Amino acid sequence: MYCKLICGTLIGIKGTMIEVEVDISEGFPKLDIVGMAGSTIKEAKERVRTGIKNAGYRFPYKRITINLAPAHIRKEGVAFDLPIALGILCCEGVFHKRKLERCLFIGELALNGDIRPVKGVLSLVDEAKKNGISRCIVPYDNLREALMIENMEVVAISNLNEAVLFLKNDKKTMEYLQRLTRNVPEIISIKNDSDKYLDFNQVVGQKKAKRGLEIAVSGMHHAMLIGPPGIGKTMITKRVKTILPPLSRENIVELTKIYSAAEKLISSNKIIGERPFRNPHHSITRASFIGGSSTGKPGEISLAHNGVLMLDEFPEFKREVIESLREPLEQGMIILSRSQNVFTFPARFILIAAMNPCPCGFYPNLNKCQCLPSELARYQNKISGPILDRIDLHIEMTPISYEKISSDSLEESSCDVLSRVLVAREIQKQRYKDEKISYNSELTASTISNYCITSDSAKTLLENAYKSLGLSSRSYHRLLKVSRTIADLDSEEVINSIHVAEAVTFRSDKSGASNKL
Ligand SMILES: [Zn+2]
Repeated sequence: MYCKLICGTLIGIKGTMIEVEVDISEGFPKLDIVGMAGSTIKEAKERVRTGIKNAGYRFPYKRITINLAPAHIRKEGVAFDLPIALGILCCEGVFHKRKLERCLFIGELALNGDIRPVKGVLSLVDEAKKNGISRCIVPYDNLREALMIENMEVVAISNLNEAVLFLKNDKKTMEYLQRLTRNVPEIISIKNDSDKYLDFNQVVGQKKAKRGLEIAVSGMHHAMLIGPPGIGKTMITKRVKTILPPLSRENIVELTKIYSAAEKLISSNKIIGERPFRNPHHSITRASFIGGSSTGKPGEISLAHNGVLMLDEFPEFKREVIESLREPLEQGMIILSRSQNVFTFPARFILIAAMNPCPCGFYPNLNKCQCLPSELARYQNKISGPILDRIDLHIEMTPISYEKISSDSLEESSCDVLSRVLVAREIQKQRYKDEKISYNSELTASTISNYCITSDSAKTLLENAYKSLGLSSRSYHRLLKVSRTIADLDSEEVINSIHVAEAVTFRSDKSGASNKL
């Protein structure tokens, strides 16, 4: 007996359809899996054998051959358990093989016959849809992910028996499973309950930092927060996502694929409906930061896609980690290659790097700062020029006065800030509709002159700044791009001196405190 089912494997965050062929013939009892199967799939033998028995079916003592096609793709994952088990039962005549057509099967089998959730379900179901498959049978705990794909019949099962009864056209089971799919609880995303109450108005004072972050978000500029420890760099950065526009459906699908492939959604039955905030520790390795080329698992920079990546104590990160930011900061994605596969992970985030002004944290307060000039230089030199060149805004945070901290004047809410951000973003959308870019931060040296039209007074100011601060041409372009965003926040097409003047305040070389930053 022979039958064929469709399953899938993940390559990065992209699904690929795999055919599972099952053949059972008389002969020495043996189960072979061929077709470049990874170790997790080889182990499926034991799970399938025991799972079938414990679900109440007879496991055939015959020669069983499983072939996974196409053979040139390396397959990994536990999602093949379900199609292998169903293939064996179908060959044994438990149900008709016509029921297996145009259907995707995914699920890990537990020894007692239960079906466990797996990673990457959304990517697999999406790919199935593109291949003309109209029905998928998935683990119940992955139901939410599968339902993201429109015009797909989703059947969610909790154990092998439910799958078999469904394929046998058992009326009661079919009705029960349909009811289950219809009544899935409406859970949108994983987030901490405390996140719900984050708002910019909880940050007292720090007007300059708030304004800087508003500009960063409006033009998708990366920013650096510089200030002594305990000043609230993390507190304010955590709230940046509250001034970012809501995610589109397309964004939600993309983010959910990333989190699912990173095994962050297993058994949560959730999707990612809000912008991420990632805050990895400075001891992080390069592989968990950019993603593993051996595992094909997305890293922190991809988990921050469409959201905020905060790197606190920025100079403390390993040099190779900091340098690995170059490609994502430039292209909004990262490409990892390994011998057989090339993974492309999206990684378009707002980088907010935070650092102390010096190793002890008190510079430029020379009464308190104990650092030697050489220590100071070494600290600041840890971040290379090419990375600094990609960080448009340098925001200094200073301690707030007692009057401010004790006053109960009302701070502006995230909602108010967001309304201005949305205006600035809409202006950019219209302006760049015929270009390949979407935001001011993406302007290049060649396009900058088309879109950064300056008034005469702004020109004078720029010239003065260029000469007195000794700007490089790159720094000059950064200044212009930030001025462009500030003008957009004012809904002005021409950049005025007031916009340039504000942009200059977001450069820490304005006072000559550091030549590098
Ligand atoms: Zn110091």
